[in-house]
Amino acid sequence: MKKKNKKEATQNHAMLFKEASRYLVGGVNSPVRSFRSVGGDPVFVKQAKGSKIQVEDGRTLIDYCMSWGALILGHAHPEVVKALERAIRNGTSYGMPTRLETELARLIAGAIPSVEQVRLTSSGTEAVMGAVRVARAHTGRDKVLKFEGCYHGSADYLLVKAGSGATTLGIPDSLGVPADFSKHTLVAPYNDLAGTRAVFHKYGQEIAAVIVEPVAGNMGVVPPEPGFLEGLRKLCDEHGALLIFDEVITGFRLRYGGVQDLFGIRPDLTCLGKIIGGGMPLGAFGGRREVMKVLAPLGGAYQAGTLSGNPIAVTAGIITLKCLARSRPYRKLAGVTKKLCEGIQKAANAEGVKVRINTVGSMFTVFFTGLKVRDYKTASSQDSAAFRKFYHALLQTGVYFAPSPYEANFLSVAHGEKDLHRTLQAVRRAIQTREM
Ligand SMILES: *Cc1c(COP(=O)(O)O)cnc(C)c1O
Repeated sequence: MKKKNKKEATQNHAMLFKEASRYLVGGVNSPVRSFRSVGGDPVFVKQAKGSKIQVEDGRTLIDYCMSWGALILGHAHPEVVKALERAIRNGTSYGMPTRLETELARLIAGAIPSVEQVRLTSSGTEAVMGAVRVARAHTGRDKVLKFEGCYHGSADYLLVKAGSGATTLGIPDSLGVPADFSKHTLVAPYNDLAGTRAVFHKYGQEIAAVIVEPVAGNMGVVPPEPGFLEGLRKLCDEHGALLIFDEVITGFRLRYGGVQDLFGIRPDLTCLGKIIGGGMPLGAFGGRREVMKVLAPLGGAYQAGTLSGNPIAVTAGIITLKCLARSRPYRKLAGVTKKLCEGIQKAANAEGVKVRINTVGSMFTVFFTGLKVRDYKTASSQDSAAFRKFYHALLQTGVYFAPSPYEANFLSVAHGEKDLHRTLQAVRRAIQTREM
């Protein structure tokens, strides 16, 4: 590999991004990749292996994005690659059932306590849309209650931020979403049981489902406060609403059986994605047979997908889940993550820089602020500027964090002592040399 100087290297990515932006809107296919919140041009990936990505300027970076949490086994895991090579020779899609789909569904039902039956989709967004449709069909009600700061994919009626109070009806967060489409979306603050109860007090008879990230991963990493999820379960039971856990990030990430297994709370429906596809496009939702039976072809709730249960994606999922079932790496992953976060905290303390590090299992976020994470909307521009500087200093030294302080960073089983050491060195340098 030819060594290039820094200037050339930066120009290379800037050039690639300029070219991408001619043909792709904003140069990307998903807005979070665009570096809008950290500034500058995104890096272009050439290839990846284990904990590292090689980018187009020839540098190797330690990756803490890990395809937004999908790759818990690391990039290009040998067993996954081998299985995919074999699978692809048998054809890439049939539009007919395969035994592979049954096998993945059996693995999911065996792992996730509340799931008896599964429907496979091609993304987490579709999984959430399917689960909400099932809940509405099952209850014969229209309204869905979500929480401020929780992300459930890009479906119209879930792209809703909180209004000014807990009982405010949903206002769309995106252009192109008719207000009518989100008028059945209710919003309450996360971890606020009293606020949630108030919404139920007003709309209890109309609420089909409460949907929640049982550990939030899209507003920084925010764990549920003790009693919050239990309280939601109780409220749903009292009012005949279904409880949907969106475990698209947390399923097979925090524990093999998801957050519901960790905390012993049974949702009625569970949404999965990311890890269950082992890096391929795959999602799933599932629940009790008695609830899922409203889905076509058994019931009248229609849901479909040409590539749903795609044999290549399903193969990657099966191998990934089997590896996880065998190795159960969760305690070890959490230990490594804790060590990393303690190191970051220590580096910040040494320089008198105020950080708030949130971590659950192998997920973490770093905020340069004394603010509570709940106040994420009011984080000052000074804090954002500090993160931007920190971010780019890390990137310069070979460490890739998720390009926004509100997006979670993820470790994989491929992240080892050496990565930790190099990352902490980079962190120390970033904090020492930059004014925060
Ligand atoms: C990523 C994500 C989704 C959407 O999944 P896609 O595969 O991107 O459509 C839904 N819910 C949560 C919690 C997520 O993190």
